[in-house]
Amino acid sequence: MTPVLEIRNAGKVYPGPVRALDDVSLAIEAGELLAIVGPSGSGKSTLLHLMGTLDLPSSGTVMISGHDIATLSDRRLSALRGQQIGFVFQQFHLTDGLSAAENVATGLLYAGVSRRKRRPLAVEALERVGLGHRVAHLPNQLSGGERQRVAIARALVNQPSLVLADEPTGALDTANGQAVLDLLAELNDTGTTIAIITHDREIAAVLPRRVEILDGRILSDTLQGVPS
Ligand code: ADP
Repeated sequence: MTPVLEIRNAGKVYPGPVRALDDVSLAIEAGELLAIVGPSGSGKSTLLHLMGTLDLPSSGTVMISGHDIATLSDRRLSALRGQQIGFVFQQFHLTDGLSAAENVATGLLYAGVSRRKRRPLAVEALERVGLGHRVAHLPNQLSGGERQRVAIARALVNQPSLVLADEPTGALDTANGQAVLDLLAELNDTGTTIAIITHDREIAAVLPRRVEILDGRILSDTLQGVPS
């Protein structure tokens, strides 16, 4: 099967020059749950930007469900990103004046879903993350853990082929962080493909696949403790 994401020999050089990524190759298959783990400055954010098609590599290729993103116009690339990739951020990035359901529905704005259908889909996504009883709450009426669950519902609402979660527990206390990780694992059990980008080795240790990155290179890629 075509991987949902495939990066081949990607390099990224920033002005300086800084070689932030060097010859990185990575394929993610549908149904995987993996961690991309490395210390600060190792290149995680740069890799996340390439995986999320928010930036192009300086060399090498990035393919999303078989589409080489370098060959797409900005418009087609935005459409592909909107359809295929869901983002979850450390700081949730919810809009203050919008209810939980309205925040989730923003995940459908660029998907060509009619206004009438957006709300029921948003409510359904909130139910999937256990927040069916909080649809009308505003972000400031929710706990941090609940806000992150709303953000996860927003990432899921469009049924993306890949969810990219950037330090999803970084702003949460231990208990809420664990609940968010449990939720991501549960969503993965029902078929959602998820990559968690983290500096936290303890989080990485409990995921089925771990990709370790250091100094812009992949140091190891292990599946259930076995090098692949
Ligand atoms: P991480 O997310 O693991 O902390 P980054 O991908 O942010 O790592 O950074 C990798 C390296 O690239 C670091 O040395 C960082 O200083 C450098 N870097 C990141 N972004 C830029 C930029 N826009 N311009 C120049 N250097 C950058």
